[in-house]
Amino acid sequence: MSKYINVFERYTTTCPLCGEETFHVVEFTYKTPFFDEILVISGKCTKCGYRFFDIYNIKSHEPVRFILKVKEITDLNSLVIKSQTAVITIPELGVVIEPGMASSPYITTIEGILYRVLETLEVHKEENRETYEKIKETIENAIGGKIVFTFILEDEFGNSLIIPRRKENLEIIRLERNQKSKKNNNYRKYGG
Ligand SMILES: [Zn+2]
Repeated sequence: MSKYINVFERYTTTCPLCGEETFHVVEFTYKTPFFDEILVISGKCTKCGYRFFDIYNIKSHEPVRFILKVKEITDLNSLVIKSQTAVITIPELGVVIEPGMASSPYITTIEGILYRVLETLEVHKEENRETYEKIKETIENAIGGKIVFTFILEDEFGNSLIIPRRKENLEIIRLERNQKSKKNNNYRKYGG
């Protein structure tokens, strides 16, 4: 895959769903020259098919905001490592993706996220046909590289990351944590 990826552990353990010793886990890290190291844990049970995927920042759990200017097609291929607690905002396209049930962790590209937005729109298209057509066209133009937009990824636990195609387009801001909202960021917890 990428020169930034370093697989450091592979093991088999008890499946949290079926209890068999058939849960295969791969842990790897994303190391970048400009941000912390991010740990990715991916597991799958060969018996019952249960899957687990999660992302943690190894060094810091402080809030962070990434601001990427998407100016050309090539910027759409920037990698997005999105944890469950991430909020994605694209002001120019009216897109906000908030943490929640449907917001599972994933690794994709900016383009991949825009396709996800299209899929979500599709589900709700009968609610307001006119708005749907308008937003759909805007998103499609963005995928086609016809719109310059700002992609903002914010994570209150610092577990998310953007690996840009062009580093000069990325701004990283470390934020102050709102006190008293510290949650326990538990490592190696495979439950959903
Ligand atoms: Zn299982």
